[in-house]
Amino acid sequence: MRGLLIAGNWKMNGLIGESVQLIKEIQPANNEKIEIVLAPPFTALHAVNAYLSKDDSGQINNFFLAAQDVFWEEKGAYTGEVSPEMLANTGCYYVIIGHSERRQFFHETNKTVNKKIKASLKANLQCIVCIGETLEQRENGNTFSIIESQIKEGFANISSEELDKCIIAYEPVWAIGTGKTATPEQAEEIHQFIRKKIEEIFNKFSSEKMKILYGGSVNPGNVEGLLSKEDIDGALVGGASLKAESFNKIIQAGENTINN
Ligand code: PEP
Repeated sequence: MRGLLIAGNWKMNGLIGESVQLIKEIQPANNEKIEIVLAPPFTALHAVNAYLSKDDSGQINNFFLAAQDVFWEEKGAYTGEVSPEMLANTGCYYVIIGHSERRQFFHETNKTVNKKIKASLKANLQCIVCIGETLEQRENGNTFSIIESQIKEGFANISSEELDKCIIAYEPVWAIGTGKTATPEQAEEIHQFIRKKIEEIFNKFSSEKMKILYGGSVNPGNVEGLLSKEDIDGALVGGASLKAESFNKIIQAGENTINN
């Protein structure tokens, strides 16, 4: 019922020509219940969008463009920042907010994540909000409390109508770019917890409707096991999205999951 979403976060990789080449090699899914989301670096958004918009429908196949980050102000003296409206104007439909690398290297907090979500929703962007615990937090038994506060603070003062335009990506920090993946059971346990919290804070309808993605060293070899879980509605893929061959296999695995 929720469908699947497979997103590729290209991070700080790819010049304009390389980004356009990569998107040309990505195979669309043969199933309308699968959305493919691509998040090139800011500098390649315009060119990738121009390629995607070649189709009269404005969107080729089921590809959607995402930005990797956003600032919360509408305009002004914020050197180097990019506003939600600028992203929408560049063709973005989605924006990734609160990625652990933003939290780790750029001091983002649940508070700034909350501001970014609110500003993005105002500009009609759909938000992919990343949450997840560090290895230390997991080893200290704090995973659930960390996830809970990331949800409560990140989505503070957001209505359930607004929440319906948000997706959560559970990305255990210890699994990002490390080659270590959460097992499908470990991931499912947290996804169920996230859904339960969304139900408690918002309502059952929103919680059942919300797509919750898993991210952290997803690759063609482990994706089917993850997607086979009831509460895992897709994947946010970093490293393996940089090569069309591996990303296409991940999309294919999504199709297999939907068809089975
Ligand atoms: C990510 O950047 O969101 C990510 C999950 O990266 P990787 O797949 O490389 O671990």
